Amino acid sequence: MKKKIEKALENVFIIDNQKNIIESGFVKKIDLLSHKIVIYLSLSNPAMHFKNKLIKDITHSIKNQNISDPICIKIEMKSDPKIKPVIKNIIAVASGKGGVGKSTIATNIAVSLVKMGFHVGLLDADIYGPSIPLMFNLEEVDIHTKIHKNGMMNPIMSYGVKILSIGFFSKYGQAIVWRGPMVTKVLRQFIHETDWGKLDFLIVDLPPGTGDIHLSLLQEISLKGIVIVSTSQKIALSDVNRSVGMFRIQSISVPILGIIENMSYVLTKESKEKCYFFGKNGVKNFSKKMNLFFLGEIPMLQEIRKYSDLGIPGVLKNDKIKNIFLKITRNIINQL
Ligand code: ADP
Repeated sequence: MKKKIEKALENVFIIDNQKNIIESGFVKKIDLLSHKIVIYLSLSNPAMHFKNKLIKDITHSIKNQNISDPICIKIEMKSDPKIKPVIKNIIAVASGKGGVGKSTIATNIAVSLVKMGFHVGLLDADIYGPSIPLMFNLEEVDIHTKIHKNGMMNPIMSYGVKILSIGFFSKYGQAIVWRGPMVTKVLRQFIHETDWGKLDFLIVDLPPGTGDIHLSLLQEISLKGIVIVSTSQKIALSDVNRSVGMFRIQSISVPILGIIENMSYVLTKESKEKCYFFGKNGVKNFSKKMNLFFLGEIPMLQEIRKYSDLGIPGVLKNDKIKNIFLKITRNIINQL
């Protein structure tokens, strides 16, 4: 019976892995109890949909061996030796729509964390618009000579943040037209085959919306949580609603640390009155409705845009910007 079960398990593979689950060392023990088979697995991937698929495949494969005893699969989480000891907290920044300030916020949060004394990395996974190189003034760097070292990728340091961007691999103005599996492969390298050194935080700038890349990232890495960015207009909120839905579906379920309202208002010069360009408190009200923690609001400030364009994170140049982002960053840490 045990031989038959082992044979069945040899037919179970994990996506993108050439080895079966026995060869990969995921199967720790098989117990044959009276009328019950208990299989113990040790995995480093915490995503629920990944576990569910594995359970389904194993059950199916055993049943194919004409074994009808009930099967119980117990999964223990193995810490991933490649990342856990060096990266303490991986946090992804997400948005429903593009252009709401996700990368600007990821940038300024990363630099705020450095200011607080943490070791920080920033992984730009936004294949549709990798803007991190621009925001960190890294466009001119000859990336290809710098990035590979001893077969490992080497992040590039700017303003105290270790940076790796999908944009390093495309020329300025060139679209990145990779299919899902290629993107997944590159992201895997970014995470597992990169010499990040010791990091307290790795901030991941996700592409906007919901899709393939989100799913593969959630499979690849164990995120501590998601920070969502939105503006207040109805169109942005309807998209962000879908993102929240995706992160909350049972098979993914990553904790959402909270939501940030960007471009909340503009201060008119003459009257010093707040003009709620995208609508007042849209994100704040949405957060209440969806039971999301409200991490803070960021006004629309010309300086934020200006420094972004110059490739300097605003928090380093302007006290007002600095205070806004330090407050939000502290809120994120508290939520962790
Ligand atoms: P996303 O990553 O969501 O596509 P970006 O971070 O690239 O958005 O921001 C889009 C543009 O908006 C950039 O030019 C950026 O400088 C600007 N921006 C973002 N947040 C603010 C803000 N609070 N005030 C002024 N400009 C902002």
